[in-house]
Amino acid sequence: MALKNQYLIDLLETVKKRNQGEPEFIQAVTEVLETLEPVAEKRQDLIDAGVFERIVEPERQIMFRVPWVDDNGKVRVNRGFRVQFNSAIGPYKGGIRLHPSVYLGIIKFLGFEQVFKNSLTTLPMGGGKGGSDFDPKGKSDGEVMRFCQSFMTELSKHIGADTDVPAGDIGTGAREIGFMFGQYKRLRNEFTGVLTGKGLTYGGSLTRTEATGYGLCYFTNEMLQANGKSFEGQTVVISGSGNVAIYATEKAVQYGAKVVALSDSNGYIHDPDGIELDIVKQIKEVERGRIKEYCDRTSHKNVTYTEGCKGIWTIKCDIALPCATQNEIDGESAEILVKNGTYCVSEGANMPSTPEAIETYLSNGILYGPAKAANAGGVATSGLEMSQNSERLSWTFEEVDAKLHNIMKDIFKACDEAAKEYGMEGNYMAGANIAGFLKVAEAMKAQGCV
Ligand code: NDP
Repeated sequence: MALKNQYLIDLLETVKKRNQGEPEFIQAVTEVLETLEPVAEKRQDLIDAGVFERIVEPERQIMFRVPWVDDNGKVRVNRGFRVQFNSAIGPYKGGIRLHPSVYLGIIKFLGFEQVFKNSLTTLPMGGGKGGSDFDPKGKSDGEVMRFCQSFMTELSKHIGADTDVPAGDIGTGAREIGFMFGQYKRLRNEFTGVLTGKGLTYGGSLTRTEATGYGLCYFTNEMLQANGKSFEGQTVVISGSGNVAIYATEKAVQYGAKVVALSDSNGYIHDPDGIELDIVKQIKEVERGRIKEYCDRTSHKNVTYTEGCKGIWTIKCDIALPCATQNEIDGESAEILVKNGTYCVSEGANMPSTPEAIETYLSNGILYGPAKAANAGGVATSGLEMSQNSERLSWTFEEVDAKLHNIMKDIFKACDEAAKEYGMEGNYMAGANIAGFLKVAEAMKAQGCV
C-alpha cells in the first residue's frame, strides 16, 4: 500500500533519513503512516499542530553502559536502552527486552508501537520500551542478578511510578523483574509500583502472567465471532513457547480449539493429537529447557520435531497465532498459510508479520488481528497492576480476568468502528492504528507544542 498523500510522503522520507540503519523502526512507522492517510486527509488541524512530525520522534532516548561480573570473575559489558516515546496520555509504559539482537532500532520500533497499543487499552498510559543486548540464556541466577542490578542502577535515574513504569518482554520474566525491583527499592528507599509483572508477594497482579496470551484469544474470539466463526473445533498453530505462547495455548484450548504446534528459536514441535501444555510449562517455565525435549516426554505417538523456525507455517491449520518475535512470517510463509486454508492470523508477538505477509493476508481476505490490538492484554493488565498498587489493594483473579476480557472486547470494537468510519471495513490493522492514534493526537494537540 503506497502512500499518496504528499505531506506523509515527505514525512516518511525525513524519518528514513533521520533513522538510518534502523529498518524495524522504519517498517513500523511506514505501516502506521500508510493507514493514517485518510486521517491526514480529514484532519488538517492535526497537521497544523505538528502532531504527525512529533509522534514519530521519541521524546527521549537513553543509552548506557551495563558492566557486571560473571561467575569466573571476568568483567562483562552490555549496552542498556530506554526509549521514552510519548507521554501525552500517561506515564511512559512498556517492557524491557533482554536478547542479543537488541539495539536502538528494535527498542524504538517497540516503543513506537507501544504508544498506539497503550492508547487502545483505554487506560492512561504513554508509550516506552527498554532493553539490553544481554542474553539471559545459559547464565546462572547469580549472573542474571548482577546484570539486573547493574542495569537498574542506571535505569533508576530515569523511571518512577509517575514517570515511566517498565515491565517484562522477551527474556525478562518474573526472575528478572524481581531482581530489578529489589535494586530499585534499595537505591531509592521507596516501595512503589515502579515495575509491573512483579511477584504476587510484593505487589504483582493476579492474571498478569496469563494476560497477553489470554487477551490475544479474547480479541481473536471477538474477531472470529464478528465474522460468524469461532475457536471451537479449529486447528491452531502457535509459534514460540514463552509467556505469550503458553497462555495463548491454554485459552485457545479452553475455547475448544486444538493447538498442534509450538516452537522456540531452535525449532518446532508438531503434535497432531494436541499439545500437552503441562509438559511444555514444566520444560519452559520450570527447567528453562528446549522445546524438542517435549518429544521424549509426551505419550502422543505422532509428534515430530523439526530444526529451524520458519517451517512451522507449513503446518496446515485454520488459525495461526505468531507469538515468538518480529518478522517471523514473511511473504512466502503467508502464501503457504493461504494455500493451506488458514483463514485467521492474530498476532501475539510484536510485528511478527512482514509488510509482504500483511499484504497477502489483506488481499486474500484473511481475518487479521494486528499486534497493537491483539496483544494489548499484557500492558492492559499492567495498567490494572498500577491501579492496584496505587490503592494498595489486590483484586482477585476473576476480577482482573473479567476486566481484561472487557478491555479486549472494547479494543476489538474500537478497531472495528474506526475501520468502518474511515471506509476500510474489516481492516482491523487500519482500525487499530487510527483509533490508537486519534486519542494520543487529540491529547498532543491540546497540550500545545511540547
Ligand atoms: P519469552 O521470552 O517468554 O518467549 C519468547 C519465545 O519466542 C521463546 O519461545 C523464544 O525462543 C522465541 N523467540 C525469541 N526470539 C526469537 C527469534 N529471534 N527467533 C525465533 N524464536 C524466538 O517472551 P514473550 O513470550 O514475553 O514475548 C513473545 C513476543 O510477544 C515478543 O514479540 C514480545 O514483544 C511480545 N509481547 C509480550 C508481552 C508480554 O506480556 N510478555 C506483551 C506484548 C507483546 P527461545 O527460548 O529459544 O529464545
